[in-house]
Amino acid sequence: MLKLCVIGKDVSQSQSPQMHAFLLEKMGVRCEYTAVSIPPAQFAARAEDLFSAYDGFNVTIPFKTEIIPFLSSLEGDAETFGAVNTVRAGERKGYNTDGLGFLLMLENEGVAVEGKSVLVLGAGGAGRSCIKKLTERGAEVFAYERDGERLRRVYDEFGGFTPLSAVGPRRYDIVLNCTGIGMHDTVGKTPSVRTAHGEAPVGEELLSRADTAVDLIYVPARSEFLRIAASLGKKTVNGAAMLFYQAYYADCIYLNRTPSAAEAKAYFIQYQGGKA
Ligand code: NAP
Repeated sequence: MLKLCVIGKDVSQSQSPQMHAFLLEKMGVRCEYTAVSIPPAQFAARAEDLFSAYDGFNVTIPFKTEIIPFLSSLEGDAETFGAVNTVRAGERKGYNTDGLGFLLMLENEGVAVEGKSVLVLGAGGAGRSCIKKLTERGAEVFAYERDGERLRRVYDEFGGFTPLSAVGPRRYDIVLNCTGIGMHDTVGKTPSVRTAHGEAPVGEELLSRADTAVDLIYVPARSEFLRIAASLGKKTVNGAAMLFYQAYYADCIYLNRTPSAAEAKAYFIQYQGGKA
């Protein structure tokens, strides 16, 4: 029996146990997958025990970088992003499947990015990964982040995109919300951006010029950002598939299984109860 878990500061409400149990059953593997909340002050003392207690584990906020000193190598995007969300405990190898999950979400939702202009709002942990993956896939990326210094650091690290200090009147094929504004205590809100006329929440003016709005938020399923875009007749995509696909890629890593976009999509549709 495979023993896996997700670790984070508070993973008591995490969807990971349910999602991985579903996926691993589909993949024909017997598995025990638990959620392990660790207070940040205890992380250094408890991290070592994870490697003997589990075959592998997923890592979430705030330990995606803290786990790195305990690993012997970083693979692929984990090295690129300097952040780990999946660990093979026996080999102490760290992986990051967030960017792969993001790209597969766009692909399986029929959102082409090559040659398209994409405005990314927010360049925190998720935003910087999305910026990097979009540029790798040949999108023309523009990124706005209210913390100009943070955006500069992402630019110095990855380059290949246009950093914006304000959002102007041009059109973008795709607008992507990576800020987290619209969930938890900001439900009903959209991120605010600097414009030529001062600071203003993203609304109809920007979204009416786009074809597609993508929000990494998945609870609520339709954020205010997506509600406005949908009311304008735009294609909308929320982050539920990204979450599912990063878990799918993680399980493929645990099992040495070759990932398949079609298989992942079929599982996602089944996981949602048949709603495509
Ligand atoms: P993060 O590191 O905190 O980054 C969020 C960024 O947005 C920060 O730079 C933040 O700036 C900025 N921001 C906050 N409020 C803003 C506002 N009003 N206007 C403009 N920018 C604002 O968070 P994260 O880990 O990247 O996560 C971002 C979102 O993606 C969350 O909703 C998370 O749930 C979602 N996510 C989804 C998936 C998925 O699988 N679907 C995966 C990863 C993340 P400050 O630091 O100044 O506040």
